[in-house]
Amino acid sequence: MTEKWKTRTKLVHQGSRRSQYGEMAEAIFLTQGFAYPDAESAEARFIKTGEDEFIYARYGNPTTRTFEERIAALEGTEDAFATASGMAAVNGALTSMLRAGDHVVSSRALFGSCLYILEEILTRYGVKVTFVDGADLNQWRAAVTPGTKAVFFESMSNPTLELVDIAAVSEIAHAAGALVVVDNVFATPIFSRAVEQGADVVVYSTTKHIDGQGRALGGVICGTTEFIRKTVEPYMKHTGGSMSPFTSWIMLNGMATLDLRCRAMAESALKIARALEGEAKVKKVIYPGLESHPQHALAMAQMGSGGTLVTFEIEGGKEAAFRFQNALEIAKISNNLGDAKSIATHPATTTHQRLPDDQKARLGITPGLIRFSVGLEDAEDLIADLRGGLAAV
Ligand SMILES: *Cc1c(COP(=O)(O)O)cnc(C)c1O
Repeated sequence: MTEKWKTRTKLVHQGSRRSQYGEMAEAIFLTQGFAYPDAESAEARFIKTGEDEFIYARYGNPTTRTFEERIAALEGTEDAFATASGMAAVNGALTSMLRAGDHVVSSRALFGSCLYILEEILTRYGVKVTFVDGADLNQWRAAVTPGTKAVFFESMSNPTLELVDIAAVSEIAHAAGALVVVDNVFATPIFSRAVEQGADVVVYSTTKHIDGQGRALGGVICGTTEFIRKTVEPYMKHTGGSMSPFTSWIMLNGMATLDLRCRAMAESALKIARALEGEAKVKKVIYPGLESHPQHALAMAQMGSGGTLVTFEIEGGKEAAFRFQNALEIAKISNNLGDAKSIATHPATTTHQRLPDDQKARLGITPGLIRFSVGLEDAEDLIADLRGGLAAV
């Protein structure tokens, strides 16, 4: 029955469990453990844990299970495992499936912590990693070999909003027998069709749009039942990266409005991108929803939207970017994204500060670059705020 539900219905009802009280809101099962009616039941549960049977919150919890079922239904995967943060999800998805001698191909334009896992952690344990320019299919073709176990990429990169063609890279990966693991944060689960385009495993930091109000860290790994239960779950439950029931409850509440929020933010993002294109002090506007974006056609085919972030370069480098940020009245200077509150980030001095200058240049992280996470405020107010910032430059 629930398979027929459309997105908004799933976001409100999928996976709901009700106790004997029939509570309307999702209950928070704030419990680490579960009492068994007798010793025989305890023994039986440790041999085989059935549906809606739980042992310990690190292994699973009713509130967390509700969240996992809801996000899996939304993403179109058989199952999901909720994690303590987005990074626990990225690490869990990769580390649980890889062993010494395996080969991974990854796009180069990655969130700093993702880069750390691929460059520092995996290689420490004998996994070979090859980095490619994610938008260049020829580099993927050259790097993926029959020994490649997985490919990893952010479907839309941070902060320069460059897309990786999920369908094309999946075809290359699958021909070599490699699993496709996508960090899909910037695409959001609302605009994602990653699984139908070929992704095998989809990872989210739920800290971003899924919570959507900047309250809690969380993450999730979506995939087949086989991958989630046989590969991910044993790794996660024994290494301690599971989502807390309280966080799961926060995420469930975020999900009820996820579709409405992402669509409203993307609508405002397009208006903002268009307005910025006409501004004299703005050198360049990067927004996949604009016809001027080099991958506009791919963005429309892959996501049907330009997403909820707009990146732009201000004339005058770091000094101009700082003046702009300091003059904002509505948008906050911070580094989260997907929040109800608009956020202006200066990647060169914050999120990407640690990268050497040549790598910043290679990734297009220039001193005048601003990443703007569009919130739920009125679009006209935001445009006026951005204009106020530019006037101070
Ligand atoms: C934020 C983010 C992460 C990490 O998520 P946390 O919840 O902060 O651990 C990973 N990948 C991308 C693309 C992100 O934006």
